[in-house]
Amino acid sequence: MSHLATAGKMTGIMAAFISYTAKNLPDDVLARLEALRSQETEPLAVEIYSLMFRNLQLARELDRPICQDTGYMQFWIRCGSSFPLIGELEGLLTEAVRIATAETPLRYNVVETFDEVNTGTNTGTGAPTFWWDIIPGWDGCEIYTYPAGGGCSLPGHAMVLMPGQGYEAVVDFVLERMTSYGLNACPPLLVGVGIGTSVETAALNAKHALMRPVGSCSENERVAKLEQLLEDGINAIGFGPQGLGGRHSVMGVNVVNTARHPADLGVAVSVSCWCHRRGRITFDSDLNYTVSTHSGFDMGGSK
Ligand code: SF4
Repeated sequence: MSHLATAGKMTGIMAAFISYTAKNLPDDVLARLEALRSQETEPLAVEIYSLMFRNLQLARELDRPICQDTGYMQFWIRCGSSFPLIGELEGLLTEAVRIATAETPLRYNVVETFDEVNTGTNTGTGAPTFWWDIIPGWDGCEIYTYPAGGGCSLPGHAMVLMPGQGYEAVVDFVLERMTSYGLNACPPLLVGVGIGTSVETAALNAKHALMRPVGSCSENERVAKLEQLLEDGINAIGFGPQGLGGRHSVMGVNVVNTARHPADLGVAVSVSCWCHRRGRITFDSDLNYTVSTHSGFDMGGSK
């Protein structure tokens, strides 16, 4: 297969994957929503969970996106330095977004700043968003897809605390944001908390935290304890599904941290909603692929 044809094949797979993930939630999110529904005792909350599952069923039957906010596409690319299409990835993913927008269809969510013109393609200046990690020597490529909603992950919050404020101030920051920004999204939330040395490292860590599976915990025991304490604390606020009261406010809290300068403690919060549509697809150098998030996706090329 020529290089051009190979790029076209990957574009088609990615367009289909973006479209599929707009209509079907990841397996881990579905399992957590089922578990939260079964533990709920408030009648209104139980009814809201039932409506969510009816919504999911109708999306499948009518072949439509789960939510009207089909997101602003963001990609986290973990690419091997020897992956054959490394130089074409941003272009082919941008084209995949254009195709998925027309064929799904996805709502037009990209507006050129200052010009205030909707591009009508979900692409534009700097859109979609790409974050890269290069893996030396590998010939594969792992791509996280995330349609970030206008009310959930995109308006995240970040700041740098004084180190003397300690990790208690991280908890204060997260809980304070949950009672304001947190309710802009549709609970139960997945809360991504990033800790780093600056606003931008903390913010990116918070976004990466949303890519971790629901129900996973940090390998660092202290961080895992913080995740549990935050989850218990946010649940105690009592948002419940859609913020109308109930036992659980969150599907989970994921914390991702990197090392920091001793004088700075950066912290960020990025939340995702019950409609947490992140996807993860991994290609080998022949474009055989594995999808770890959605067991139902298969275009005949999975490993
Ligand atoms: S918060 Fe999530 S479910 Fe609610 S409108 Fe936004 S994308 Fe849709």
